[in-house]
This record gives sequence, C-alpha cells and structure tokens, in this order.
Amino acid sequence: MAALIDRFTKAKRIVIKIGSALLVNEKTGMLRRDWLTALAEDIQELRSNGQEVLIVSSGSIAIGRRILGLKKGRLKLEESQAAAATGQIHLAHAYQEILGDHDLKIAQILLTLGDTEERRKYLNARSTLSTLLNLGVIPVINENDTVATSEIRYGDNDRLGARVAQMMGADCLILLSDIDGLYTADPSKDPNAEFIAKIPELTEKIMAMGGGVQTAFGSGGMITKLQAAEIAVSAGCNMLITSGKVNNPLSKIKTGESRFSCFLAKDTPRNARKKWIAGSLGSQGALIIDSGAEKALQKGKSLLPAGVSAIQGEFERGDLVTLINSQGKELGHGLTAYSSKDAELIIGQKSSEIVSILGYAGRDEMIHRDELALK
Ligand code: GLU
Repeated sequence: MAALIDRFTKAKRIVIKIGSALLVNEKTGMLRRDWLTALAEDIQELRSNGQEVLIVSSGSIAIGRRILGLKKGRLKLEESQAAAATGQIHLAHAYQEILGDHDLKIAQILLTLGDTEERRKYLNARSTLSTLLNLGVIPVINENDTVATSEIRYGDNDRLGARVAQMMGADCLILLSDIDGLYTADPSKDPNAEFIAKIPELTEKIMAMGGGVQTAFGSGGMITKLQAAEIAVSAGCNMLITSGKVNNPLSKIKTGESRFSCFLAKDTPRNARKKWIAGSLGSQGALIIDSGAEKALQKGKSLLPAGVSAIQGEFERGDLVTLINSQGKELGHGLTAYSSKDAELIIGQKSSEIVSILGYAGRDEMIHRDELALK
C-alpha cells in the first residue's frame, strides 16, 4: 500500500480529474462549494510540497443546464453546447474564487480533440500549459464543449485527463470519481464484486471489467477510465481512481483513509515520450546540424536555429524530422517547431532575430529538448 501511495506523494506533476457528479449537486444542479473548498486545501498542500498540479474539471454542462432551466434527461447537441457555454463561466469563476482564497492562481484552458491529437496544435497547447506551470499557475482544463460536436469530441474528461497527462509528461493522474476504484464486477449490482488495488498490466481480463459501470451524471463510466489508463500508463504516468465523495480526497489518499486503484506505469514520462518519438514512423525531412549544436544536444540541450546548417525535405511545424551531423551521421529524431519554409529563413541565425526575419515571435528553439529523441 505504502509503495502505491508513493506513486502519488512522490509525483512531480499531477493531473487531477474532477467528475461532474462530485462538483455539482445532482438534485439541485448547484456547485458544491464546500467540497471544492476542501479540495483547494489539498491542492495547496501539494503545491507547498513543490508538486505541480493541473486540473481537468467537468461540470459545465451540469451547471449550465440548471441555469438555463433545461429539462432532465438527454440534451440535444445545441442544448448541451449552450449549457456548456453558460456553465463554464460559472465553473471558472468558482475555481478562481475558491482556489484564489487559498493563494492559488488559476488559468482556464478549453481544449478540443484536435488540440491534443494534431501535432501542430498539440505543440501550442503544450507550450502554453508549460509556461503556466513555470509561472506557478494551476491550469483548469475542460473540453471546449461549445464547439465540439460528437464526431470531434472526447465527450468524457477521463480520456481528456489522460491526454493532458501524456501531453504534459505528468507522472500521476488521479481520477476523482463517485466510485473508489476498479472492481471485478459492478459493485452496485454484484455483491461478490472484488476491489482491485493494484493493476500492473492492462490485460484483456482487466479491460473487460469496464463493461457497464455508469454514473447517472457524468459522461464517463469505468470503460472510459480504463481507456484513460491505457493512455496514461503507456505515457509513463501512474493512474489512480479514488472516490471524491469524501471531503479532502487527496489528503485521504496520503493518510491511508481512502482506498484507491492504482494502474502502474512501467516507465518514466520522459522515457516513454522519447520512445514514442524514436518509434514514430515517417520522418518528413532532415536538419543538418553543426558540431557545436551536436555537443549541446549530447548535453541535453535544445536545438537552436543557429546550430542548423541545412535543411532537407518539406515539413510542417510539429512534424517529425531526422537530425544529421556534418559527417552525415544520423543522431536521432525530434518534432520541429518550424515548417521547412520558415526554417530555411532562420537557420544559422540567433533566436533573437526570429521575430524580425519571420515577422512573428516563434519559439526560441528549433526543436525543444523535450521533443528530441537521440540515438
Ligand atoms: N466536458 C463536460 C462538462 O464539463 C463533462 C464531460 C464528462 O462528464 O466527463 O460538462
């Protein structure tokens, strides 16, 4: 148990996913301010331990439908979009007020599926979130439900939470839910259902346990939690499911008062990411780099435009490119922050010149060190 608790207490970067059923009173549709206040205490403690926190919060539709007086039951797409637009502003305000009272700064980020799935957009979302974390801010993330249609949406924040964890190289994802973990069967229907504390492998047997457990309120269920676990553990991120029905659910994990199911990651997020980049097929082009840049890369630095002497192929921002040294040796791969068209103009130049050459302020690095996988 203690070793499992360590997966949370020793994590450097934690994503906390909060389900609608916890945040919003199911009967009244009102935000549960006392619960959020208690959670803010937990988050304050994590921050004072030097842990970085990102929140993925549901609740906009549940709050918005109450404000708009929409009927119970399934909403039409336009109705849920209107409810999300109305509810999200209230949700953000509540976070700002309640976390603000605990000296925590928050920022709202609304993501669409494309923002995490398409590399170009993904680099933008990732860099904004990194900047916020560096500034000590807690991003509060939700799906941008007002523009998401069923074909292009996550629909559940379990998988969105896992994608955020993957994108940000988090080492722990906590799903605060109305169920305290994974069971061999639905515990509300089957008295013989057994709780599973540790999931080292996502076997077919485990994946089959997702069938049917559904909450009345949120969009997820155990199935989306298991899908989230697949994303998280393959990205080197441990995933915990615990009950958020109690106050201070995070400190209760620490003290052992609350049980949880832990899906174990086998790798670190950094290694998992490097493997993903290294294993990505289809390099779109190549950057030839000079010996100074080669040395800098070996020391774990980013690749700056100044260290690139030539470009091969045509590529877009976010594409995978091969790095080649001046003797023609392949050094590895990385995701480029510039298209080949723009890269042609800035190679060999100082990063401070980028804005005057391209007419926009791009990234200082051609390839950020987090986006590099050397051989
Ligand atoms: N994005 C939805 C909302 O904020 C919730 C999705 C979910 O329930 O997981 O209302």
